[in-house]
Amino acid sequence: MDTKYYVCQYCHDEFIPKRRYIQKFCSATCRSKAHHQKNKTVSSSDKRVIGPLNKIEKMSAAGIGNAAAGALAADVVKNLITKNHDRPATKGDILALSQKIERFHRVLNIALGINGELPYFDMVTKKIVYFKNTIPINKNKF
Ligand SMILES: [Zn+2]
Repeated sequence: MDTKYYVCQYCHDEFIPKRRYIQKFCSATCRSKAHHQKNKTVSSSDKRVIGPLNKIEKMSAAGIGNAAAGALAADVVKNLITKNHDRPATKGDILALSQKIERFHRVLNIALGINGELPYFDMVTKKIVYFKNTIPINKNKF
């Protein structure tokens, strides 16, 4: 016996047809409802059937909603990651970047200060400055 399921064109439930290739609905009830619904079409050019969503369609709508939310979340993440590459740097970006670059850089080819202070190049003032042995920023480098 052929147990291939058909899907009812009204309630979208699966059913085993008694008359294969002909039977479109799982029951006389669905066939009747579908017939009545057919007469509620919007216009001759628009054959979409209006009427309340059936059980399956409601589930699908929820699924689509979840999928859309997932896609939206993915897009947001994607934008955060990829769009930043193409986006021009804002003044805020530059400020944040400049704050990450160390301001003081140890200068190696200049003599120490009078009291043995270490010379640094100040990136902000563009001048050589001296610090007593300890400057927290570059501490790890010497
Ligand atoms: Zn049915």
